[in-house]
Amino acid sequence: MSPDATDEDVAHVVERVESVGGEAFVSKGVVRTIIGLVGDLESFHGLNLRTLRGVADVHRISDPYKLVSRQHHAERSTVWVGKGGAGNKRVPIGPDTFTFMAGPCAVESPEQTLEAARMAQSAGATILRGGAYKPRTSPYAFQGLGVRGLEILADVGAATGMPVVTEVVDARDVPVVAEHADMLQIGTRNMANFGLLQAAGDSGMPVLLKRGMTATIEEWLMAAEYIAQRGNLDVVLCERGIRTFEPSTRNTLDISAVPVVQATSHLPVIVDPSHAAGRKDLVVPLSRAAIAVGADGIIVDVHPDPETALCDGPQALLGNDLRELAQACRRLPPVVGRVASHERVGHE
Ligand code: PEP
Ligand code: MN
Repeated sequence: MSPDATDEDVAHVVERVESVGGEAFVSKGVVRTIIGLVGDLESFHGLNLRTLRGVADVHRISDPYKLVSRQHHAERSTVWVGKGGAGNKRVPIGPDTFTFMAGPCAVESPEQTLEAARMAQSAGATILRGGAYKPRTSPYAFQGLGVRGLEILADVGAATGMPVVTEVVDARDVPVVAEHADMLQIGTRNMANFGLLQAAGDSGMPVLLKRGMTATIEEWLMAAEYIAQRGNLDVVLCERGIRTFEPSTRNTLDISAVPVVQATSHLPVIVDPSHAAGRKDLVVPLSRAAIAVGADGIIVDVHPDPETALCDGPQALLGNDLRELAQACRRLPPVVGRVASHERVGHE
């Protein structure tokens, strides 16, 4: 309460709080009175507490998200990706494993996708990525192959036995993407597209939710809450760099987001060093950092011929860089108490 709030002002706040079933604990100091509220947050919202006379400020103590919070679910979750059965394995993403996901930024052709998938798989990746709908900054840039891209991705997933993750940019495309993929990706530009989040939630498919490039961690978790609220808790968060004043990397990888998220949410969290850096020379060091900080996995761009890539060639790995990444993904997770996910594939 402000220093000049009267006893009546305090009594009025208490009365309003009690009128919606809450409890108010008044603590009177020499200069100020503080009122602590206990009860249902939603019912307090309707009170417009900031508008009551004598109220100086209102601070929320509890998390604004519920379903994705560790207050709701203390144990960290594991999300399984893949339909299972003969041609398609089930891959865990969670606290005991380290899951390496890789593939081309965009699906360009059956040959390019298969070659990239084989490169990813021989480096130890267990989930294949690849975009069929590309959310490009420019409307003149390659927009992806659409449904044809989904078909190619599904074929390559079946040929390699790798579950596939691909981006969906429009709520209307959720059914067709869900039909072809094992996990729906929601990209940085759509993190706050609430209709899309709800449609992805309704699909019942695992969702890879990237952090908005200008989103706070709380906003990102609220976006995940939109999916969870539709009864879908199979959400994996992906830190992919945020916009800062630093121009030497495309984005600034917020590595501290990983342990911050893990302390407050039970959802798995992975890192995308490729889209964070935008430069292939930083992908291996940032991947090592992701493993060391305790990320539940990484997602990395690879391409058989980055020079001709239709999207994000400068960040795609191949050759020695990919071998170096493969070695890091094999050696480092056990150092931080995790098994590589390919050792647990299908062992649900
Ligand atoms: C991508 O993964 O292909 C992509 C477009 O990523 P982001 O949404 O993080 O930019
Ligand atoms: Mn990309």
